[in-house]
Amino acid sequence: MNRETSRDLYDRALSVLPGGVNSSVRATQPYPTFVRRGDGAHVVDVDGNRYLDYVMGYGPLLLGHDLPQQVQSAVQRAASEGPMYGAPTEVEVDLAEFVVRHVPSVEMVRFVNSGTEATVSAVRLARGHTGRNKLVVMQGGYHGAQESTLVEGDAEHPRPSTSGIPQSFARETLPVPFNDEAAVREVFERHGDDIAGVLVEPMLGNNGIVLPVDGYHDTLRDLCDEYGSLLIFDEVITGFRVGGLQCAQGKFGVTPDLTTFGKIVGGGFPVGAIGGRAEILEAFTPSGDVFQSGTFSGHPVTMAAGLETLRFAADEDVYDHVDALGERLRSGLVDVLADHAPEYTVVGTDSTFKVVFTRANTPAQDGACSTGCAQRPDCARFEACPKTGADVGNAETERWERLFRPFMREQGVLLPANQFETQFVSYAHTEADIEETLDAYEAFFTG
Ligand SMILES: *Cc1c(COP(=O)(O)O)cnc(C)c1O
Repeated sequence: MNRETSRDLYDRALSVLPGGVNSSVRATQPYPTFVRRGDGAHVVDVDGNRYLDYVMGYGPLLLGHDLPQQVQSAVQRAASEGPMYGAPTEVEVDLAEFVVRHVPSVEMVRFVNSGTEATVSAVRLARGHTGRNKLVVMQGGYHGAQESTLVEGDAEHPRPSTSGIPQSFARETLPVPFNDEAAVREVFERHGDDIAGVLVEPMLGNNGIVLPVDGYHDTLRDLCDEYGSLLIFDEVITGFRVGGLQCAQGKFGVTPDLTTFGKIVGGGFPVGAIGGRAEILEAFTPSGDVFQSGTFSGHPVTMAAGLETLRFAADEDVYDHVDALGERLRSGLVDVLADHAPEYTVVGTDSTFKVVFTRANTPAQDGACSTGCAQRPDCARFEACPKTGADVGNAETERWERLFRPFMREQGVLLPANQFETQFVSYAHTEADIEETLDAYEAFFTG
């Protein structure tokens, strides 16, 4: 496969962009694939190579790379009328009403410009509302590039996970292992009166894919109620994908106090949002005293793209299509692994999937969840399938990144940079694409 133009562009980029990219995950080895354009479920790179795409912009592209006519028209109309104003527009109200109508825990929404900005603002809101400082997060959870959550270690010994963050900030964050009820109970017993909130992804979506064990979120809900803390669901990646329009909170039957959104809700344009009960949301300025503001927030082009994308998803068979293909893909992968790599684990739900390269002491696939690990306690692999971020970190991440991903790219299948990032099926994918993908996985395992 000729990738010379990508290599030359990366050479230029290294002189003017730190690491040659604008988001660190894009710096794949030995150099990134520079994309010229999207085409349905495919992307075409600058050298003319065509790939079946499961990156899907790292999550926003529910419909694939071709926007339906009504989304395209709305975007072009908004852009041509003048890109933005610094004054409110009707479409912000329309999109907020849509979100409020479909996500039961949400009565009000504040739109921002990225998932990171959403979690930053949600954490400030939780602290302002409760008058407390401490924040519980999950080890291996991801909430964007922000000071309160780029923290590792455990609740008694938290430390910044990157340089540039003061240890004094990290002290306010309490990391716990996902799916471990005893651990979070203990943290609440020790620090409960100082905890402003628990910030949690409904499923770990940036660290393999780890689904919650039965009852875990109910425990978080109960602890937050008991101690007067807020339960904050970070649905930036799951929102309007897992569980369809009701989001993962609807699928899992949990009612958070606050929810952060991003990715799909902007229809492919930069977006974030904080939603929740009116009584809490009104603590934001100007109605309350928790400062929140943004020049581009509620950008008309983004709002138009988000609204028309979600309307399209509501009116057409989008979720039926992507969820059915996701299930077909995951069950096909379970079969491939049973024959060729029984120690590995298929994970994911709805239109998300991944094969986690779990290590050799894992039991064989017999009796495994047939459409990807669902954390079923009666499954033969229950004890061995990933429950925490650390379980995914302990997998064969180097083999995935250095051998598997480049192999798939050579087969014409483009996957995210590493073992940790979720893969997405879009509305543009077809059954034939799924079969082609299964063949490519099989080819890797049969060497
Ligand atoms: C992507 C993501 C973020 C960060 O969103 P950005 O738009 O990249 O800032 C936050 N939380 C979760 C769960 C995400 O998947």
